Amino acid sequence: MLKIENLQARVDDKSILKGINLTVKPGEVHAIMGPNGSGKSTLSNVLAGRDAYEVTGGSVEFNGKNLLELAPEERAREGVFLAFQYPVEIPGVSNIYLLKAALNAVRKHQGLPPVDAMDFLKIIKEKVKLVEMDERFLYRAVNEGFSGGEKKRNEILQMAVLEPKLCILDETDSGLDIDALKIVSDGVNSLRSPERSFILVTHYQRLLDYIKPDYVHVLAHGRIVKSGGPELALELEEQGYGWVEQQILAGA
Ligand code: ADP
Ligand code: MG
Ligand code: MG
Repeated sequence: MLKIENLQARVDDKSILKGINLTVKPGEVHAIMGPNGSGKSTLSNVLAGRDAYEVTGGSVEFNGKNLLELAPEERAREGVFLAFQYPVEIPGVSNIYLLKAALNAVRKHQGLPPVDAMDFLKIIKEKVKLVEMDERFLYRAVNEGFSGGEKKRNEILQMAVLEPKLCILDETDSGLDIDALKIVSDGVNSLRSPERSFILVTHYQRLLDYIKPDYVHVLAHGRIVKSGGPELALELEEQGYGWVEQQILAGA
């Protein structure tokens, strides 16, 4: 599904990603952990195609296509979803309007007609229930005045409605209280399927108590320096990131 090879990228002439290799197969959940400033958000943003990030080498293939050649909206239509670390507010645009427009863009790309108004209401009500969101949030401007937890819930709602093939969640757990964390995790878990993959970017192990990843990768200084199973997250929680760096130094 996703194949990242020797990916290098920079921001403001500063080299951040220094050769990332990662393969994600359908149905897999990969957690990317690592210290602050290691390049986790840069990797998410490069995959989503945000402007500020310049790819200087390597390749990213998504379902046989060169992802790096596609504009951000095209990537979204192909089924790549990035839940932003700091979700944007869109004054004047209601949440439900945005969801419908986004869903119809994906449908158009798939050769499907726009969703029927009644069908859409049915879908949306079901998904709102899934994320335990108050229906009133649908009619408010996107994320405007939403609390941190409400924005996160809204991201999961967007994901549930759009049904992407690859979901990238960048620090979806940051700033969440334990109840909201549970709802985000339940939302993600309910969306897990043999066809859908996840990349969960997180600084803390806590999220992984609720969403069990298949693989855990440690990103440090722009490279994946260690990969393992779910147990790696627990070791990191106990020993900290310094432990991985020491291991690398010892092995070098
Ligand atoms: P992480 O998400 O792992 O905490 P980031 O990918 O956000 O790390 O950042 C990696 C490095 O890139 C940091 O040193 C950060 O300051 C720098 N960086 C990220 N985005 C920008 C930007 N838009 N402009 C300048 N520097 C940036
Ligand atoms: Mg950070
Ligand atoms: Mg980050």
